[in-house]
Amino acid sequence: MNDASVQATASDAASCKLSASRLGYWIDPFASMFSSFHRKMPLINRGYYARVRSIELLLHRFLGTNSNAKQVIVLGAGQDTMFFRLKTMHPELLKDTLYVEMDFPMITKSKVRLCRRHKAVAECIGEVETNEIEMKAQGYALAAADLRELSTVQEKLTWAGIDPTIPTLVLSECVLCYMEPEYSQPLIDWFGSAFTDCAIIVYEQIRPHDAFGQTMVENISLRGCDLKSIHAYPEPEDQHKRFAASGFGHVECWDMNRVYYEYLPLDERRQKEHLELFDELEEYHMLQGHYCLVVAVKNATSLYMSALEL
Ligand code: SAM
Repeated sequence: MNDASVQATASDAASCKLSASRLGYWIDPFASMFSSFHRKMPLINRGYYARVRSIELLLHRFLGTNSNAKQVIVLGAGQDTMFFRLKTMHPELLKDTLYVEMDFPMITKSKVRLCRRHKAVAECIGEVETNEIEMKAQGYALAAADLRELSTVQEKLTWAGIDPTIPTLVLSECVLCYMEPEYSQPLIDWFGSAFTDCAIIVYEQIRPHDAFGQTMVENISLRGCDLKSIHAYPEPEDQHKRFAASGFGHVECWDMNRVYYEYLPLDERRQKEHLELFDELEEYHMLQGHYCLVVAVKNATSLYMSALEL
């Protein structure tokens, strides 16, 4: 697999998030600081709305539960701005929370640069200990690691202050799918074994074939990258087995059509559906059927189960 193509997906995602947020699908004052604006097709904007909003709802539910300290670990965070949005719009949710983002050094380096360049972001992070590629502040860290190197991931999470006995939410938004199962599985296994109270949210591609049995290669978020991971977990049931095998006792996997129609709040969804002229409903359903949202919870107290159940 070509690491440069995989890394380039970080700016694709940032650009799509800027397009959708600027059109009003959600509010993000930081998106324009991490990407330049190119308006995307309505199909893409609506897909990103479903992706970002469903993850955000789950994250808010986790952060809003009534326990003390919490941790969020974002794998392959790219140029995502969720932490800055939370910090400025919902600071109460980040109380006693350590939020750690990880990505390749090349990506974290560019994020460090952009965070320093934009005053609004720098103010949001506060006093920071930083070098060219990493940052650590009160309640936030940006760590550089290749997620395929488990010992580096472990070392960086320790550096960031992660404590495996504290309730932890791990987020992988279009990330594990770029890794061969021989690398992603040990990582999931480790979260499943080392962390006492742990939940994982995964958003990624499934069903690599179309109705004619052809492999979908022309997919905007894959950039021609290797599809091995998707072939290893082609259906929701395979995703289920993948996390159950790592000790996650409660696993839900929904395709994004189900998430869109059954999970997103109806009134809000209807309002967003009026933002743009939309002629591509059939294509939208087809595309959304190739993405899923997984919520896997390990040894969760009833508190976490009720917080994260779809
Ligand atoms: N999660 C972000 C978002 O949704 O905006 C970025 C998604 S982008 C499609 C995939 C991200 O995963 C990229 O930033 C890429 O660098 C990162 N990634 C993929 N494989 C990785 C690996 N082995 N180690 C570290 N980061 C990785």
